[in-house]
Amino acid sequence: MTGLLGLGLRTAAGLALSAAIAWAGYKRESLSRSGLWGAIVVGTLIFGLGGWVWGLLLIAFFVTSSALSHYGSRRKQSLAEHFAKTGRRDLGQTLANGSLGAALAVANALTGGTHPLLFFAFTGALAAVNADTWATELGILSGEQPRLITTGEPVEWGTSGGISSLGALASVAGAWTIGFLALAFGIVQGRLSGMPAGPRLGWLPLVAAFAGLAGSLLDSLLGATVQATYYCLHCGKETEQPLHRCGRQPIFLRGWHWLDNDWVNFVTSLAGALVATAFGALVLYL
Ligand SMILES: [Zn+2]
Repeated sequence: MTGLLGLGLRTAAGLALSAAIAWAGYKRESLSRSGLWGAIVVGTLIFGLGGWVWGLLLIAFFVTSSALSHYGSRRKQSLAEHFAKTGRRDLGQTLANGSLGAALAVANALTGGTHPLLFFAFTGALAAVNADTWATELGILSGEQPRLITTGEPVEWGTSGGISSLGALASVAGAWTIGFLALAFGIVQGRLSGMPAGPRLGWLPLVAAFAGLAGSLLDSLLGATVQATYYCLHCGKETEQPLHRCGRQPIFLRGWHWLDNDWVNFVTSLAGALVATAFGALVLYL
């Protein structure tokens, strides 16, 4: 009964906190109206069912990516025709980044919140989307022209599948940050609950860095190969959006029709979770 009560209270607190943060994101124009709802659902599930450490990691992702997408926004506008991710995140984008984390939080509640491997998986999923966001938002400001991950051919700033040294560095930094915070919050939680975190949590920053880098590379690889890409005849530009920002409908150029940027981000988080789970299993059980 106390367990259920605790869960109910935490979920209510999660709802209040998620609503407050998502509202602030909406006001700051980081979220669209549908994105606001997506963020509230994802935030409530992760806080309520994952616990406050999971919730704080989600906040770290949300706050840093919103801040980075505002950072240098004028330069991004002028640089990047392709740049679809910047600005307001909608429902599809919030679910692409957060739905796997929310599902892992549900699994965490169902298993009684005792499985450390789920924490590794969650950290990996979040590390991957954080890595990808940091790489996208900072890589676009790179002075060095990005190159396509597959052929090495120079491409326009912001092109899906284009990579740069700054982008790769930002990706590892973004992933490592999530892993470091997972470790730090895990230690504090261990102290507070009187159940010290196992020494193996110390692997989290490294595991997260690997998971995030793997996720971002996969993201770029998919972006360069099978992600749906369109061409606006009016502007003479490639775009990953089925509706170009000039308001006209572009023609389909290449890739798989259904594989839009949101699906690519979801696959990125899945890859991060899988890599972190594999590494987590090694350090926890070997
Ligand atoms: Zn156009």
